Amino acid sequence: MAVVLVVNSGSSSFKYQLIEMDGEEVLASGLVERIGEERGRAEHVTAGGTTETTAEIRDHTAGFGVMLEAFAAHGPSLEEHPPTAVGHRVVHGGARFFEATVITPLVEINIDELAVLAPLHNPGALQGIRAARAAFESIPHVAVFDTAFHQSMPPEAYTYALDRETADKHRIRRYGFHGTSHKFVSEAAAAHLERPLTGLKQIVFHLGNGASVTAIDGGRSVETSMGFTPLEGLVMGTRTGDLDPAILLHLQRRAQLSTDEIDDLLNKKSGLVGLAGANDMRDLTSRAEAGDDRAQLAIDVYTHRLRAYAGAYLAQLGGADVISFTAGIGENVAHIRASALRGLEFAGVRVDPDRNSSVRRGAITRISTDDSRVAVLVVPTDEEVEIARQTLAVASARVP
Ligand code: ADP
Repeated sequence: MAVVLVVNSGSSSFKYQLIEMDGEEVLASGLVERIGEERGRAEHVTAGGTTETTAEIRDHTAGFGVMLEAFAAHGPSLEEHPPTAVGHRVVHGGARFFEATVITPLVEINIDELAVLAPLHNPGALQGIRAARAAFESIPHVAVFDTAFHQSMPPEAYTYALDRETADKHRIRRYGFHGTSHKFVSEAAAAHLERPLTGLKQIVFHLGNGASVTAIDGGRSVETSMGFTPLEGLVMGTRTGDLDPAILLHLQRRAQLSTDEIDDLLNKKSGLVGLAGANDMRDLTSRAEAGDDRAQLAIDVYTHRLRAYAGAYLAQLGGADVISFTAGIGENVAHIRASALRGLEFAGVRVDPDRNSSVRRGAITRISTDDSRVAVLVVPTDEEVEIARQTLAVASARVP
């Protein structure tokens, strides 16, 4: 029986899941946070309940010690369910990693070097990898990159119309993110429809706090809305998405904002929060229903952008067979799904209002009408299971 430990590590916290692969069942999950602060905190969740501990957790190595203690004290026993491999989520694989990869010292160096492109993410992932490799010495560790799925994009999709020399020198191109989720959802959609992945043209909307949309042809990403960083594309919880880059110059020259202030503005103070002061769609929806104009405008800007991308990707793919919605907003907010596809009947997209408003939580649901040429689905994403699947596949294929 194969068991995979999935680790998603940031600079001051990490999350984990222990997954039994036959039934893809989560045996335990948890979180270690406030690493490096005086009072660290850990949470361990099993079928028997949740336990919490607080203590100083000096670094990631100490964090893995806390995790191992939680397994020993509250189960499940790692002797009875020994992990076959450890899968690590890594945000940026640059143009170097186009698939999940067994971690070697050279791979660690590459992930470190790619921190130039993902300064907020790759260093934390690397700290987690190093600590986990020390805690689980004898089994393979695999890096699963958010960018890897999008390495199949053709040059015309990933190249910015920027001076070639400057772009090449600084490795500026579209990389795309959320790849693990887009891959999982497109495969789950094909399986649900009982149609081969290779014959399907798909559009996947991942609408969480971060949001992106991907056009997938025969199982390969051919275009995605996030670009050089996860800032480009759709309107998000706190990020602008697409913006005229001259606005940045204007803010520097006229408003005298510093680089850090602009970074903060675009990534943390914009999007739904910037437009309406909140990024929770439940909150915005009830405010809009009560007549709040700011909340209504935020929703309208959000869905206007979704429709623009739906249209663009339908054109790039030459029509679609499947459109899927996933993540917090995609899975839970019917009016956003309806608005995202409004006016696309001419392209064969017909959403059934009753089906759309009665989606079962956690299940794949078809929300298009029976006569809709395009199947529209709500597909719960599971990035941990996808990381575990890829980890097991790569670890099993490894030449010992
Ligand atoms: P991420 O993983 O990117 O942090 P999620 O996929 O968990 O985000 O999505 C978070 C967002 O989903 C929240 O900002 C919230 O607006 C929205 N969301 C989650 N559940 C619901 C719900 N039941 N109704 C409305 N919105 C929801």
